[in-house]
Amino acid sequence: MLHAFRSLVSPELSIVQILPQTDRVVLVARPKSAVSLCPCCGGQTGRVHSHYVRRLADLPWQGRVVEIRLQARRFRCANPQCPRRIFTERLPATVRPKARRTTRLGESLLAMGFAVGGEPGSRLSRKLAMPVSGDTLLRMVHSASLPDFVAPTVVGIDDWAWRRGQRYGTIICDLERNCVLDLLPDRNADSVARWLKRWPEIKVVARDRAGLYADGARCGAPDAVQVADRWHLLNSLGEALRHAVGRHRHSIAAAVQIMASVQRPKTGSSTLPPGLAQLRADRKAARRERWDEICRLREQGCPTSGIAQLLGVDRRTVQRWLAAGGEPEHSRPHRPSHLLAPFSAWLEARWASGCQGGPAALARASATGLYWKSGDRRAMGR
Ligand SMILES: [Zn+2]
Repeated sequence: MLHAFRSLVSPELSIVQILPQTDRVVLVARPKSAVSLCPCCGGQTGRVHSHYVRRLADLPWQGRVVEIRLQARRFRCANPQCPRRIFTERLPATVRPKARRTTRLGESLLAMGFAVGGEPGSRLSRKLAMPVSGDTLLRMVHSASLPDFVAPTVVGIDDWAWRRGQRYGTIICDLERNCVLDLLPDRNADSVARWLKRWPEIKVVARDRAGLYADGARCGAPDAVQVADRWHLLNSLGEALRHAVGRHRHSIAAAVQIMASVQRPKTGSSTLPPGLAQLRADRKAARRERWDEICRLREQGCPTSGIAQLLGVDRRTVQRWLAAGGEPEHSRPHRPSHLLAPFSAWLEARWASGCQGGPAALARASATGLYWKSGDRRAMGR
């Protein structure tokens, strides 16, 4: 039985006895090596001075707390020149000097502390049979050694929201290592400049197109190259395109109508079901009404947020419509389903004979290339 457990403990130890108790498993163990190295002079010695019992907490077994009762030894240093006459033996693969838990248990607890913090970690540790107090977990986290820090050379600076739409801070990322370097509590040029001055190694600052971070970077890292990052470039391009197209929407709608009138006789495309056509007309009329209302409120000097509140729509919708100079045209491409196309005639016949339930409606919509939403389904009297 002992042999089966040997591989589960440190290779430096031999298990002498296993003492299962009601609340824990006690392993009586002793060091395998007959000799030890003096921590002062490094000399090897086999002259045992005395024995003592050292209690170590270890990783749990099958949900039970494990205690190692280690038959530890003190040695005499064999080197007559060494100032250290007696020392306790070191077991570097098992436990640090004077520690009361094994290194591997300490690593697990540290991971827990980093993941969930002090008190939650403590509650979790009791559930996992490696109990530790919240204070101890925090102490372990605070004294943990940090990974080597490499000074950043390419950083990205952008907003991050404490509370979206209300309060923003600044996030600074290392773009070469894809990690967050710092979160600044506010969004202003001075704090960005102060942060950048701490890292003279920075060569490139990627930022949004606003002037705020440009000022911060100019002041804090005057020799660094400032670039717009890819996301902001694409975002700005998208906005510009939307505005450009929005200004010509009437021309586009007229062109689409001309194309449709040219193509219709050739393809013999199906017309919209009467209910859906009416629904779309209603929606278009509602958008037109809403746009008229926005114009009226705007003329009265109402701000964008006020208009949004009064009409019960999103502020960004009002902004978008105002920027485009009118309500959007919603048109859906005619894309018949290849799968259902052969059955469209049969589906139309079923529809005409009164079978207009949910599945039939969806199949017909798919076959005729109509885009269906719950509102459309309601409109068809489902
Ligand atoms: Zn020594």
